[in-house]
Amino acid sequence: MNTNEIINTAKEHLLHTYNRYPVAFDHGKGVRLYDTDGKEYLDFCAGIAVYALGYGNRKYEDALKSQIEKISHTSNYYYSEPLARASAALTKAAGLPKVFFTNSGAEAVEGAIKAARKYAYNKDRTTDHEIIAMEHSFHGRTFGALSVTGNSHYREAFEPMIGNVKFAGFNDLESVKALVNDKTCAVIMETVQGEGGIYPADPGFVRGVRKLCDENDILLILDEIQCGMGRSGSMFAYMQYGIKPDILTVAKAVGCSIPVGAFLVNEKVAASSLVPGDHGTTYGGNPLACTAVAAVLEIFEEEHITDHVNEVAPYLEQKLKEIAASYDFIKGERGLGLMRGLIFDTDKVNPGDVVKTALSHGLVLITAGKDVLRFLPPLVITKADIDEMANRLKATLAEHIC
Ligand SMILES: *Cc1c(COP(=O)(O)O)cnc(C)c1O
Repeated sequence: MNTNEIINTAKEHLLHTYNRYPVAFDHGKGVRLYDTDGKEYLDFCAGIAVYALGYGNRKYEDALKSQIEKISHTSNYYYSEPLARASAALTKAAGLPKVFFTNSGAEAVEGAIKAARKYAYNKDRTTDHEIIAMEHSFHGRTFGALSVTGNSHYREAFEPMIGNVKFAGFNDLESVKALVNDKTCAVIMETVQGEGGIYPADPGFVRGVRKLCDENDILLILDEIQCGMGRSGSMFAYMQYGIKPDILTVAKAVGCSIPVGAFLVNEKVAASSLVPGDHGTTYGGNPLACTAVAAVLEIFEEEHITDHVNEVAPYLEQKLKEIAASYDFIKGERGLGLMRGLIFDTDKVNPGDVVKTALSHGLVLITAGKDVLRFLPPLVITKADIDEMANRLKATLAEHIC
């Protein structure tokens, strides 16, 4: 099929829930993507923080190929070696002892919410427990995940939500305290808000919420589906805050293209929440998905990916700060590690339009929130790639100077 045939056929048959760009990607190599016309792009999106290792990692691909030749799926009635390896590797990397594998991020959040409700139920044998979530948060599109997503636009048409969810201001400890009562079972938040506009949590806020949770036996659920897996410069962003969550959700880069997510819990939650019969999934944790997870985590260690992130991220930050200072329609820059954003003055330039222009200049970017141009490169990006990105971005922005 040529590009037009691909786009027209897909458009005709897909339910129109995405406004896709008129590009069909064909293959990738390293941090570059190639479309069906052979045009090359520098990828600063990584399939939305998924392809951490870049395209065509030999070890990762060989592991998947040989597993496909053996067996890809068995169901959760049985054990498999990839399941054993992935669960050992992910619990070690995440610093939490028990894991449940899912097929997506939203499903990891669903499981986390169920674990929190069950923990509270086991304590007082009552239901109707409450969850505190954050404004401008994003946790996914299924009902549980949507119910704790702090963007009423996403929720409005689908009410009622799961109920008993209250929203506090992110980085506003007093607003969290004000919502706590004896029915509160969990606080859920992203360590770095992604879709909402790249807002890292303040250290004082995270520690304050942790203390508040400890004092009231409330579970702290950190959603690191986007900011986790090395992107922040540590394996999980929470590790930079000197605290630990009770429950952690992961997805995106943990499978590096194979759809897989997980939620992990500490001993306290493992001992008194979900038991056989409470939760399940057919595909979750199958041998193929777990081969991906085990390979990804092995490569992270062998290639010292977090060290690499710490080496290149300050360079990206500096380049973006220089760019922010050079254009009157860019108000600033923020982020953590290789999860960064340029903040636009949307009265002058819309970052969504910049994404389109960037594609024509061979640069793949996405937006976050209403006013942020988001940078989520593969974690293996080099300083030379960052220079190249900066050049293509400047050529892009030149078209938006009025
Ligand atoms: C992407 C994302 C999700 C949802 O993950 P899906 O795999 O799309 O269901 C949840 N939380 C955060 C922080 C995310 O970035």
